[in-house]
Amino acid sequence: MRVYNFSAGPSVLPEKVLEQARDEMLDCNGSGMSVMEMSHRSKAYEAIIGGAEELLREVMGIPSNYKVLFLQGGASSQFSMIPLNLMKNNKIDLVLTGMWAKKAMDEASRYGQVNVVGSSKDKTYSYIPELDKTTFDPEADYFYICQNNTIYGTRFPELPDTGNVPLVADLSSCILSEPIDVTKYGLIFAGAQKNMGPAGLTVVIIREDLIGTAKEFTPQMFRYSIHAENGSMYNTPPTYAIYIHKLVLEWLKGLGGLEKMGEINRKKADIIYNYLDNSSMFKPTVHGSCRSLMNIPFVTGNEELDAKFVKEATANGFVNLKGHRSVGGMRASIYNAMPVEGCEKLVEFMKEFERSNA
Ligand SMILES: *Cc1c(COP(=O)(O)O)cnc(C)c1O
Repeated sequence: MRVYNFSAGPSVLPEKVLEQARDEMLDCNGSGMSVMEMSHRSKAYEAIIGGAEELLREVMGIPSNYKVLFLQGGASSQFSMIPLNLMKNNKIDLVLTGMWAKKAMDEASRYGQVNVVGSSKDKTYSYIPELDKTTFDPEADYFYICQNNTIYGTRFPELPDTGNVPLVADLSSCILSEPIDVTKYGLIFAGAQKNMGPAGLTVVIIREDLIGTAKEFTPQMFRYSIHAENGSMYNTPPTYAIYIHKLVLEWLKGLGGLEKMGEINRKKADIIYNYLDNSSMFKPTVHGSCRSLMNIPFVTGNEELDAKFVKEATANGFVNLKGHRSVGGMRASIYNAMPVEGCEKLVEFMKEFERSNA
């Protein structure tokens, strides 16, 4: 039996995608083999990776002056790759909104100076700080944000206006959740395991003029130019993860694309936030316009009751609701593949729990 999986990542995938992968497991498209067994240089595989890029460009509206790179090493490798490739003046601006931004900050600090232009550390990263444009450095090599903060359940309600300084954004937990304007960014990256497919694939979308300026000592595998020049085939790409990513994009396009996906995601988030805002037992930890559409942390204020809830939810088929250790309580991650029905049923279950534990 399938459960409702609220994992923060790796996370739920569309059932249709899993079924198609199952059907094509032993023989993909008449090739007589599994995608996992194909040479990445074969015609059959070229159609898969080429198709994935074409679909991603179409679904996200990626302009032709941006490269799409299918890499490995997780979103975490980008914390190093970005400064290695983009730093020239060796200084950047960064907004400190949580653990993932902190990790990016620490890696960038190895190579240059990080100017923190805003931080929400004082309140366990439960909000997005107001920014003052006059504190931005016009000479910064880039301006870094983590757009959706997976652990704390916040997201930037609007993008900072960084002028000519390229905006670099970690979209790991919100990419493909609603339409975005790619031209507002210099570089977008995401680990695939939240909204794009399985773990093992990292997608980088980078404006062409930002490629080719890597520091002299940058390892070959950490240069955007090498991967761009070789169509993400400098070495063996994560072939199966890219295949599943392509199926996810086909599913998303069939659904109506990002406009429709955004509508569905807002509806899902509303169902849960509306209940949390009115519950006398469960409290949301984030308020206002910076609430994430993808990750919703909440608490009862009583650790024993939290634990009891998580345990009973699991027994009833609502799994992976335990919050991150730094926030405590619970967190419902409701990525693209979580159906509306999963959110409705979770709220029904929470109401029942609230009644019987009042
Ligand atoms: C999950 C996550 C990461 C880490 O991704 P890895 O692929 O495990 O390195 C980084 N940033 C954000 C916002 C995430 O949600």
